[in-house]
Amino acid sequence: MKIVVVDNSRVNLKILTTMLEEHDHSVVSFLDATEALTYIRCEQDVDVVLTGLELSPISGFELCWDTRLLVSRGRQIYILAMSSSTEDSKLIETLDSGADDFIRKPPNLQELLARLRVAERMKYMQEELIKLATLDCLTGILNRRAFFDASVAHCTAADDGADLSAIMFDIDHFKRVNDNYGHDIGDKALVAVVGTVEREYGLFARMGGEEFALLLPNAGKEEALDVAEKLRAEVEALDIEAEGYSKPLKLTCSFGVSKWAKGDSIESLLKRSDLGLYLAKESGRNQVQFNKYTPNDFIPERSEVIEIVELDPNVVELNS
Ligand code: GH3
Ligand code: MG
Ligand code: MG
Repeated sequence: MKIVVVDNSRVNLKILTTMLEEHDHSVVSFLDATEALTYIRCEQDVDVVLTGLELSPISGFELCWDTRLLVSRGRQIYILAMSSSTEDSKLIETLDSGADDFIRKPPNLQELLARLRVAERMKYMQEELIKLATLDCLTGILNRRAFFDASVAHCTAADDGADLSAIMFDIDHFKRVNDNYGHDIGDKALVAVVGTVEREYGLFARMGGEEFALLLPNAGKEEALDVAEKLRAEVEALDIEAEGYSKPLKLTCSFGVSKWAKGDSIESLLKRSDLGLYLAKESGRNQVQFNKYTPNDFIPERSEVIEIVELDPNVVELNS
């Protein structure tokens, strides 16, 4: 593990660094707690902070607390505090300041290594829980909730003037795939469709069933339509091997695209993509529809789109 060691004694730092490095840990040590904090803030791969409490210019408690604030869903740091004091109040204050565990100073080597093994187990478990909570278990892409969480930074950038577009897409007649080929091949088809989407496009999530969302930072209408059209063609070209069948399974998807406009939110942007997707379905599937509305326009509900499309497809011209 990568361990940041912080202490006010150069000798202690030297001893701890040698001990930990001999047991295959990578160590970065600091006498100055503020420098340590800056390092922890910048270096995303720090696994453990092992810190004394009598530090300067900020105290060990402050270092524990500020490090705790850096911990988020995407980042786990285990904080192990050291102190020569055996007072209960100090132990309580340390844990309340955000430390995960406490060890006497100077630490006994075997005890320290055992506590680091606990740290490793905790970190692994937390990472597994985060994966379970944020990734779709079949396809490995983001789930709906994680997509909304991760979209916040992109929406803020879009509010500040950056381009942002969204694509919603859905596999056509997927129920027939399950009915004709069985659920397992249906699952394989979902994975194959996900495989056509390059991760660098942007945030990609399974919104439910056979419906996906793709948020494209810095993409305007033309770029988003290009991506959607490329994906449409790639899905259409897929040959999904179906065991027990003479021919590979063929699929298509329908796509709805929308572009961020003033007053938008992630919900309103996706709602417009979804309406475009709906029109793509209604207009024959295996196609891309751009929804040119902005949040300030009157946007018809899905049911109204069907009614109007059935009466006259040109009345609701979502495609500009
Ligand atoms: P449309 O072109 O209008 O989208 O038709 P459709 O058949 O794709 O849409 P519908 O909503 O009627 O059916 C979606 C199907 O997707 C029904 C459901 O059984 C299937 N499905 C949802 N999640 C999964 C999954 O995880 N695995 C498999 N194999 N099928 C799934
Ligand atoms: Mg479908
Ligand atoms: Mg669907």
